[in-house]
Amino acid sequence: MSAAPRHPAMERFPVAGGELTVGSVPVSLLAARAGQTPFYAYDRRLLKERVELLRSVLPREISLHYAMKANPMPAVVGCMAQWVDGLDVASGAELRVALDAGMDPREISFAGPGKSEVELAQAVASGILLNVESMREIHLLAGVVQRLGRNARVAVRVNPDFELKSSGMKMGGGPKQFGIDAELVPQALAEIGRLGLGFEGFHIFSGSQNLKAEAICEAQTKALALATRLAEAAPSPVTTLNLGGGFGIPYFPGEKPLDLEPVGAHLQGIVEAAKAQLPQAELVIELGRFLVGEAGVYVCRVLDRKVSRGEVFLVTDGGLHHHLAASGNFGQVIRKNYPVDVGNRAGSAQRELASVVGPLCTPLDLLADRMDLPVAGPGDLVVVFQSGAYGYTASPQRFLSHPAPVEVLV
Ligand SMILES: *Cc1c(COP(=O)(O)O)cnc(C)c1O
Repeated sequence: MSAAPRHPAMERFPVAGGELTVGSVPVSLLAARAGQTPFYAYDRRLLKERVELLRSVLPREISLHYAMKANPMPAVVGCMAQWVDGLDVASGAELRVALDAGMDPREISFAGPGKSEVELAQAVASGILLNVESMREIHLLAGVVQRLGRNARVAVRVNPDFELKSSGMKMGGGPKQFGIDAELVPQALAEIGRLGLGFEGFHIFSGSQNLKAEAICEAQTKALALATRLAEAAPSPVTTLNLGGGFGIPYFPGEKPLDLEPVGAHLQGIVEAAKAQLPQAELVIELGRFLVGEAGVYVCRVLDRKVSRGEVFLVTDGGLHHHLAASGNFGQVIRKNYPVDVGNRAGSAQRELASVVGPLCTPLDLLADRMDLPVAGPGDLVVVFQSGAYGYTASPQRFLSHPAPVEVLV
């Protein structure tokens, strides 16, 4: 069987001497260095290159934030904190990691439905920007401010009256648990004013994993228009407007990378329009997977090679419990294969159709379904690409009580 076309993601991890490398380290050596399989490996240089790519395309006036929930490994956050303009956290625990990383609290924001009173207090005590998402949060916050003797910095997270079209995940428009419905925002603003909370602006995040530049541009235009309209009811000028993000990465065959050029050009227009409409506002976009997703791989080891009624199964020590997304059970509607290779046999001409499965007693534990792969057996290393985001912390590691993976930054 001839070699299948390689997914562009694979080109980021060059093959040297028949082995895939991460940060110039051959994958078998990296396994020894990690001390175990399975492991996640993230490439520092690729992380930095991605930030630089965005900087080259986005207008200078746009602040680039990293949404930490995509990959909250402290070492990764430590790198990102040096390169981006701010961090967006989604829990009190992520906030601690962001602060540990040395990010200026003025450049940290906190979004998420259902913030606890403790988390609100953490935010006020550290001086970060809170994206409030309900009247309850506003009222709780007033109490926290009194107790701590320090005012809160708040932006209103708006559930917009539009959607981000063609998104992998819609997080705005229609009935949603996120943010305050646009039509109720004036009421929330009045309450923020009455309570004397420090109002700073709006957060309008409408969706995730989008590969269509036009859809992203359209959502940004609508977000600016909505913020401009809502600003009329605000207790003070808007000094920050978070336009969301949603930039996707290609996972599956046939998906094309997001074309950044038109997004950058469009944002230049948004910057100009905002200068007239919201002259004091800093414009922010917040990205998770686009920044880190393509910089990481997941590596597990083949334990057994079974042939069942003519089909080959590579049974590995990793699987769904470590990498739920690659198994197809994290938001996908129809299961498709992530790009996969056998790292220590990369480029081998001896190939076959094989399925890669994990050790769990469920047919859902599938990392590759009948893929064209180098012929492999026990001891070989299976590599899953596009694994830098929503991997380690987005997987049910306790399911079936197998050992956890480790993470390394190379
Ligand atoms: C999840 C999330 C992000 C990151 O989404 P990506 O698809 O990883 O870019 C950004 N902002 C908010 C508010 C989120 O909930």
